[in-house]
Amino acid sequence: MPLYQPRHNLADGTLCSEGDAMTLLRPGSGWIEVITGPMFSGKSEELIRRLRRAAIARLRLQVFKPALDDRYAKKEIVSHSRWRIPSVAIEGSEEVLEKLDPRTEVVGIDEAQFLDEKLPGVCSHLADLGKRVIVAGLDMDYRGVPFGPMPELLAIAEQVQKITAICARCGAPASYTQRLVPSRERVVVGAEDVYEARCRRCHEPEGAVAVENPWLFEPVEENGEGDALG
Ligand SMILES: [Zn+2]
Repeated sequence: MPLYQPRHNLADGTLCSEGDAMTLLRPGSGWIEVITGPMFSGKSEELIRRLRRAAIARLRLQVFKPALDDRYAKKEIVSHSRWRIPSVAIEGSEEVLEKLDPRTEVVGIDEAQFLDEKLPGVCSHLADLGKRVIVAGLDMDYRGVPFGPMPELLAIAEQVQKITAICARCGAPASYTQRLVPSRERVVVGAEDVYEARCRRCHEPEGAVAVENPWLFEPVEENGEGDALG
């Protein structure tokens, strides 16, 4: 008998209105939702909005974010518009499983692009356990290169919402993050003073120095066990 007994995963109705595929899910089955797009597109707002609705529906929540992101606070996720919700800082994605309360029904993960390559497996496991997993993260880095575990997460998610910002240069819908300071580092933590949203036409990736490795943290080799396509 599993310790976790799902009660009313669809109670908040979010997915019924936002993703047709979700209406096919039977109560008790978990799933993965991904919210992605460039900086300033409102990913954290959308994540917090969904989590607030789940809280109103009296679902048990746990929220995690990489310890790296200390932009505003360590113990909560905060959107650019200062909405906030308590969160647990983690160093690696497997910490989500270590710190998981079996009774948790909804798991939120913010800034997922900074986590390691095990995150898609962790999220799949959570969904298999019957949890609703809501992940927010940048799909591309400042050069337009897919970021960390996000491509695989986007592939395995039941529902993906890709949202745009507004191009700071021309006002068009923006899907890219433009870095405004010269740096070879993949991650320069900051917000308005370091980055702005740009559309495809206005994005200038060539100003940046290419980095070979798309991972912020080196993927860990597991005893000769390559990936499925290896
Ligand atoms: Zn533009």
